[in-house]
Amino acid sequence: MDDPRRRLEHEREVTLGRLASLTGDHDAIVAASLDTNADDEHDPEGATIAFERSQIGALVRQVAGHLAEVDAALARVSDGTYGVCERCGSATGEARLEALPAARLCITCAAAG
Ligand SMILES: [Zn+2]
Repeated sequence: MDDPRRRLEHEREVTLGRLASLTGDHDAIVAASLDTNADDEHDPEGATIAFERSQIGALVRQVAGHLAEVDAALARVSDGTYGVCERCGSATGEARLEALPAARLCITCAAAG
């Protein structure tokens, strides 16, 4: 199997890149919305910008959460517990880890919720 640490480090880089581009967009939208509010608070664009801002805020939280999962998975590689389901203790499964390198649970436990 591939080195899980290398896979997770790649995942981490991709996630950091997404976060950087999202927060860049977020800053631009916040700046645009401040300008809009200063010009005319009844500008119909204002509602769209507020909506985009909340959408991006949700995405940023989601991607930041994923980054934390990747970091936790890297810590499990160091502990030697990576690839072991946190709930039932069976193997998470190579195919599943290829698709979701930061997965904590085996597919059975994940499906059980
Ligand atoms: Zn399990």
